Amino acid sequence: MHTSKQNDSSRPRVVVLGAGYAGLMAALRAAAGAAVTVVSPTSELTERVRQHELAAGRPSISHPLAPLLAPRGVAHVPGRATSIDTARRTVTTDDGRVHAYDRLVYALGSRTRGPAGDRDGRVFTSETAESTRKRLADGPGKVVVVGGGATGIETATELAERTGWAVELHTAGTVGPSLSARGRAHVRTVLDRLGVGLTEGVTVAPDDIDADVVVWNASLVAATELAADAGLRVGPDGRIVVDELLRSVSHPDVYAAGDAAAAWSAGAGTLRMACATALPTGARAGRNVAAELSGRDPAPLQFRYWVQCLSLGRDDGLVQVVGRDDSPRDVVLTGRPAAAVKEQVVRSTVRAVRWAAR
Ligand SMILES: Cc1cc2nc3c(=O)[nH]c(=O)nc-3n(C[C@H](O)[C@H](O)[C@H](O)COP(=O)(O)OP(=O)(O)OC[C@H]3O[C@@H](n4cnc5c(N)ncnc54)[C@H](O)[C@@H]3O)c2cc1C
Repeated sequence: MHTSKQNDSSRPRVVVLGAGYAGLMAALRAAAGAAVTVVSPTSELTERVRQHELAAGRPSISHPLAPLLAPRGVAHVPGRATSIDTARRTVTTDDGRVHAYDRLVYALGSRTRGPAGDRDGRVFTSETAESTRKRLADGPGKVVVVGGGATGIETATELAERTGWAVELHTAGTVGPSLSARGRAHVRTVLDRLGVGLTEGVTVAPDDIDADVVVWNASLVAATELAADAGLRVGPDGRIVVDELLRSVSHPDVYAAGDAAAAWSAGAGTLRMACATALPTGARAGRNVAAELSGRDPAPLQFRYWVQCLSLGRDDGLVQVVGRDDSPRDVVLTGRPAAAVKEQVVRSTVRAVRWAAR
């Protein structure tokens, strides 16, 4: 896909790594002031927030990139970025091609921290949700979901409701540690209703778990190996250290957004890895790139939290009201109304990308 805009060599070049929520928002917003190229191995936006639904049988969670990128004249390079040369300002992809940039946006996201998936066809992660679904279609048995955070809870409830499998949820800590007591109580009630066995306070290794299938959802780790190899400063949490404009503090030609960046705002502190933070940080990084390249002032990220939304199967959910810094308040919405809110929130993520594409 090449447009006259992209072929105009007078336009500054922006390369965006990753076509998740953050990368797409950055690319679409940067396109106002530059010739933008997105590097991504697939030609689709994968709705990562629905991966537990895919594992439980939802047929597809992907949307073609072309209709999102074409209206803004953004090019797509199908492939994986394999290295960044910050001195030459180039990115190399796995087909050996070299892509020059004036500004780079690093948005390679994150992956599950923990064991490599698919060991003997028994251990899976969110990233291997398609394989999980195929394995679960083989017939009922026992599945253990590891991880008591939002992803583990969503996965356990979805599998319990949608598959015939017996589901257990194991966590080293307490289930729903980021929730209020009231929110956690609702999660426990739904787990109980769906017959999900809950084990808290026990650290497990995949090989020790007595189950036909293990779905490992322990935590996320940022995909910042390329950044570290290129010499970008990466913090102790494994994420790229950025300033309030989302520029790398060590390499201001490089912006970072989404899970790969330790983005922060005055009101919310350092943002957690979430779609809810990837969209606004991606949009802000893209707008700032466009502003900088056209001689305007970039603006600091403004962000605050309002709610955490969890699906608990298709028919139940939890909307946990939080303060601006994500601390839980004693206010929750539960049941079908919460499930409906959650579904609308998930739909709004793709809508936000479509809106930016117009
Ligand atoms: C099951 C599940 C449920 C979730 N539910 C929620 C939720 O309800 N609310 C919420 O806020 N968050 C949720 N999250 C977290 C959310 O999905 C992530 O925080 C979000 O996807 C981060 O967006 P991102 O754009 O930074 O990265 P990603 O979505 O991870 O996108 C990164 C992109 O980079 C690409 N990529 C990776 N390596 C390379 C490479 N070398 N070269 C080129 N491209 C590459 C990937 O293919 C991918 O397209 C959930 C996560 C999971 C797994």
